[in-house]
Amino acid sequence: MKAIVYGGPRDVSVKNVPDAKIQKPTDALVRVTSTNICGSDLHMYEGRTSFETGRIFGHENLGQVIEVGAGVDRIKVGDWVCLPFNIGCGFCENCEKGLTGYCLTANPGSAGAAYGFADMGDHEGGQAELLRVPYADFNCLLLPEDAAEREEDYVMLSDIFPTGWHATELAGLLPGESVAIYGAGPVGLMAAHSAMIKGASQVFVVDNHPDRLALAAKMGATPINSLEQGAVDQILNLTDGKGTDRGCECVGYQCCDRHGHEANHVTMNNLVASTKATGGIGVVGVFVPQDPGAKSDLAREGKMAFDFGSFWFKGQQIRTGQANVKAYNRRLAELIHHGRAKPSQIISHRLKLEEGPDAYKHFDARDEGWTKVVLKPGA
Ligand code: NAD
Ligand code: ZN
Repeated sequence: MKAIVYGGPRDVSVKNVPDAKIQKPTDALVRVTSTNICGSDLHMYEGRTSFETGRIFGHENLGQVIEVGAGVDRIKVGDWVCLPFNIGCGFCENCEKGLTGYCLTANPGSAGAAYGFADMGDHEGGQAELLRVPYADFNCLLLPEDAAEREEDYVMLSDIFPTGWHATELAGLLPGESVAIYGAGPVGLMAAHSAMIKGASQVFVVDNHPDRLALAAKMGATPINSLEQGAVDQILNLTDGKGTDRGCECVGYQCCDRHGHEANHVTMNNLVASTKATGGIGVVGVFVPQDPGAKSDLAREGKMAFDFGSFWFKGQQIRTGQANVKAYNRRLAELIHHGRAKPSQIISHRLKLEEGPDAYKHFDARDEGWTKVVLKPGA
């Protein structure tokens, strides 16, 4: 089969590799029809993780089941399914609690497994023609009859829509509250979409890319261009000096200051400053325990110069982590099915698998207009 294979920093290519196949009776084999490039792929693409060369990228996958193992009951050949980027077993202590992003058995010795991901087990990714899905009965989200028609919306259930939703959940957002979202990448835009659906009174989205901010505005959010004036000042001005009830971090450890220099504390400290006293902050942007490629000593050890004094003094809360996609994807699918959510509105490019390597270059450079790429293997 054809697949997008990692060759080293900023080097990916489409290669012929052995077909993915059923390895255990609980597996399903899926013919991938849509697979997205994610901001999380870029950490690996840039060589900022321990992702091994020769492995296949792709954790945002949707397709049609073409084979099932002897132990699969619920899922049938021909079903259209969307796969959560995290792989859960369904029977460990964390999966039982709905914390499928922290499965204790799918990546033995660690908490959390995913397709085509650094430090999340050896599961291959879906930027390929075929994908092996472990524990298929548990992991597959079976899509309704409009699966093919709304494929570009449903594929966002693999990651960024649940992740954006998760950011607002971690922040504790309630109807009528205000929220500031840092990052207008796909995840930040999905957090904004989620906040609008949940009935937030004010939704601010901070970034310095005008094209991404324009999409946030189209969704009904107030764009905050961090290049123009400090983002925090702008948010305080628009909230009578109080700040927002809630804040979401949708950027991660490679966040930048106003001059475009990477500094891992920028968004967290801005969040402390622009969130009200006693407010909640949800962090879905990825931060890592080690970052050998970072510029500062602190960041190299996964630490940051965090304004803990202000945070404590304001009595705020922070919650963090990978989105437990399965906790949300069924209900978010209903929102799509009934026309109440349209996550595909952020897609900028629909491309063939062969065009993937070029798309990685553009998305990594945050080139204008490259908001979200969907690859279509077999197209
Ligand atoms: P992205 O890189 O496309 O978007 C990040 C955006 O943040 C960019 O538009 C960038 O201009 C902006 N930015 C940089 N510094 C900023 C600052 N100081 N203030 C405001 N904005 C700033 O990535 P994405 O696909 O949207 O993903 C965002 C983050 O979410 C990444 O870290 C990704 O790994 C992570 N992620 C987490 C989960 C999870 O389960 N927790 C799932 C998917 C993605
Ligand atoms: Zn992703």
